[in-house]
Amino acid sequence: MSTLLDGLINLDITDSGYLIAEYIWIGGSGTDLRSKARTVKAPIKSPKDLPKWNYDGSSTGQAPGEDSEVILYPQAIFKDPFRKGDNILVICDCYTPAGEPIPTNKRCAAAKIFAEKAVETEVPWFGIEQEYTLLQKSVKWPLGWPIGGFPGPQGPYYCGVGADKAWGRDIVDAHYKACIYAGIQVSGINGEVMPGQWEYQVGPSVGISAGDQLWCSRYILERITELAGVVLSLDPKPIEGDWNGAGCHTNYSTLSMRNDGGYEVIKKAIEKLGLRHKDHIAAYGEGNERRLTGRHETADIHTFTWGVANRGASIRVGRDTEKEGKGYFEDRRPASNMDPYVVTSLIAYTTILYKP
Ligand code: ADP
Ligand code: MN
Ligand code: MN
Ligand code: MN
Repeated sequence: MSTLLDGLINLDITDSGYLIAEYIWIGGSGTDLRSKARTVKAPIKSPKDLPKWNYDGSSTGQAPGEDSEVILYPQAIFKDPFRKGDNILVICDCYTPAGEPIPTNKRCAAAKIFAEKAVETEVPWFGIEQEYTLLQKSVKWPLGWPIGGFPGPQGPYYCGVGADKAWGRDIVDAHYKACIYAGIQVSGINGEVMPGQWEYQVGPSVGISAGDQLWCSRYILERITELAGVVLSLDPKPIEGDWNGAGCHTNYSTLSMRNDGGYEVIKKAIEKLGLRHKDHIAAYGEGNERRLTGRHETADIHTFTWGVANRGASIRVGRDTEKEGKGYFEDRRPASNMDPYVVTSLIAYTTILYKP
């Protein structure tokens, strides 16, 4: 980029008295992200200070052409790591002009579950491990892989370093810092078992905020990969065969699980999750059957299992939790392309509200 362009894009607009708000929403596929920007008067302290807005739903597969307006309700704000200054990213959900959530709006129902008294008093925490694959733009083949061929077998790549083991670290690290800048509770990053695949973790975050933060982190990742000319894939099994898939392990605890005697509460919660295995699998992401094969550190999609320190189980309890008699557990079933609003609220529903 020329230095003049560079200077212009980094102009500080704080003195104008306005800021730029990038309104972000989930598109018609349920996983694609869309966004557009508007100028608003500064300061903005909460989503309530922002106006509702609208977009053409017929262009995102979310409304018919003859009645195309979809309304955006601002729900959560983050600092914008791209425009910096006072500028913000705004996570929105989508409604008809009559005020009904449209079918792809999964946030609305999730927020209702998290607003239930019994759920709220349990202060549910979520730590979500987002795995993803970076693809070469022109051929849609993983970063670092020879075009038309394969790298050496898995083994050296997990948490690996070196030019023949890790590809895309600049993107991963840029994303890490951008998320922290934005106000997202990223807790870490690591290289994954399949080369070209990476992970970051968001959390522990409370209730609906986990979903807002994960969606915002995905948006930032799409923007950074766009800049880098690399394609982001959230496919749960991007490459067939002896290659690890991509998941979105969801770590979970309630107040009672974190307190003394919590391990007993955890075991009861796991029992309830087992009773509703099918309902959870149905909500845990498209194409997950290609990933949950019982191989490559997964449990078979048809069987519910749990165990301490068992990475081949549906649910894993950590050694520390067992030892201390309290803590959290990990639901290993969700796919990388899952909707965190759906998954987090379903886990809260089954473990807190559901009565067998
Ligand atoms: P793994 O060993 O499965 O790779 P990670 O370290 O990648 O686990 O992710 C664990 C996630 O769980 C982190 O995001 C962490 O913040 C989160 N976590 C830690 N304690 C709790 C808790 N009590 N409840 C929910 N999530 C938690
Ligand atoms: Mn992890
Ligand atoms: Mn992982
Ligand atoms: Mn995990």
